[in-house]
Amino acid sequence: MRTQIGIIGGGPSGLCLARLLSLRGIRSVILERHTRDYVQARIRAGILEQGMVNLLRNAKVSDRMDREGLVHDGIVLTFAGRQERIDLAALTGGQRVMVYGQTELTKDLYDAVLSDDNVAVVFEARDVSPAGFLDGTPRLDYGKDGRLEHVDCDYIAGCDGYHGASRASVPKAMITEYERTYPFGWLGLLSDTPPVHDELVYANHQRGFALCSMRSRARSRYYIQVGLDEQVGAWPDSRFFDEIRRRLPDDVAASMITGPSIEKSIAPLRSFVAEPMRFGRLFLVGDAAHIVPPTGAKGLNLAASDVHYLSTALVAFYGERRTDLLDRYSATALRRIWAAVRFSWWFTSISHKFNDDPIEHKIQLAELDYLMSSTAGRTTIAENYVGLPFEPTFA
Ligand SMILES: Cc1cc2nc3c(=O)[nH]c(=O)nc-3n(C[C@H](O)[C@H](O)[C@H](O)COP(=O)(O)OP(=O)(O)OC[C@H]3O[C@@H](n4cnc5c(N)ncnc54)[C@H](O)[C@@H]3O)c2cc1C
Repeated sequence: MRTQIGIIGGGPSGLCLARLLSLRGIRSVILERHTRDYVQARIRAGILEQGMVNLLRNAKVSDRMDREGLVHDGIVLTFAGRQERIDLAALTGGQRVMVYGQTELTKDLYDAVLSDDNVAVVFEARDVSPAGFLDGTPRLDYGKDGRLEHVDCDYIAGCDGYHGASRASVPKAMITEYERTYPFGWLGLLSDTPPVHDELVYANHQRGFALCSMRSRARSRYYIQVGLDEQVGAWPDSRFFDEIRRRLPDDVAASMITGPSIEKSIAPLRSFVAEPMRFGRLFLVGDAAHIVPPTGAKGLNLAASDVHYLSTALVAFYGERRTDLLDRYSATALRRIWAAVRFSWWFTSISHKFNDDPIEHKIQLAELDYLMSSTAGRTTIAENYVGLPFEPTFA
């Protein structure tokens, strides 16, 4: 098989890239390890920055998001018995975020891509292996139904997540990896119950961090910080809800409506960046190149900025034979990535319990108290939360 862009991974990055390229007449093949149902069912992100919303509109997959997504103007921080609202819109000149689940967004993207003549998707592609990208003959080898197959292409986009094959195929001497793991994880619970609050509630508490999030007006997503040695099985729903209530202000806890979980899982927290993001004719995109702790809701949104930069660069290459944007892809994407890595790390560090030393909690409370007393402090949270702008000169 021959195509223009060989894409490894049919998650949000790969699907969105294929769709944007197709709208400009560029053909691609997506090799996805799992089935469509498996990819769509993964419960992950839910908060979309304006940049991602715009990208989905440009990709013409936004109708349902615009109908069903919830626009949020603010978030609430709770600590030391206080509830402080960060007015995102007022502090950022009207910018907002959209609540729309990654599961829904992935469904919308698959609906578009699977009826798109410029995109072919191979599900259950085994042992995908990128080759030839350093010597100008890029190729993807893979197994399907017991046979060896391959895709010849002009460029490869590695959109295959943190555990994928693309980053692993780069010679070690060509790549630098920066990593920090955190001494805790998030236990998440999804339930078909109305959210406890109209906006997301981020709680700093002596017992650990908690987050009241949502996917819709009828579906709540709750998280609590837990130790890395915790097992989901040790957390029946009743224990989870008792614990999250303890970490919330009394009136918020009292108004929480609980119901049976429909999903429960533990995610470790990690900051990770691989540099650079281009190796000859292979580009890394999204989680394949970087991971952030979910505290700042940045992972999916960073994937969106990578997709924006790479699709813009490929359109310039095929339309005008320009290679300058392809050459600038890595440095441009990494600038925004490091800014989000910093914010996600910082927001995690002021909201989570790192150890039992009481001085640490006192210092966190002093920092939160200071931030809330200062317009500059509130603005720095708001600007980063709604998402830093895409680089305007990248065109
Ligand atoms: C619990 C949790 C909560 C999160 N919350 C948020 C949030 O609120 N906001 C936010 O912005 N982000 C959040 N994220 C992060 C967000 O989900 C990811 O950043 C996003 O999924 C990245 O998309 P991607 O397409 O780059 O990678 P992925 O979604 O990981 O997709 C990669 C795809 O590649 C496929 N694949 C992997 N290896 C291979 C291979 N060898 N061959 C072929 N295919 C392969 C996989 O099956 C998958 O379909 C969260 C993540 C988690 C885990």
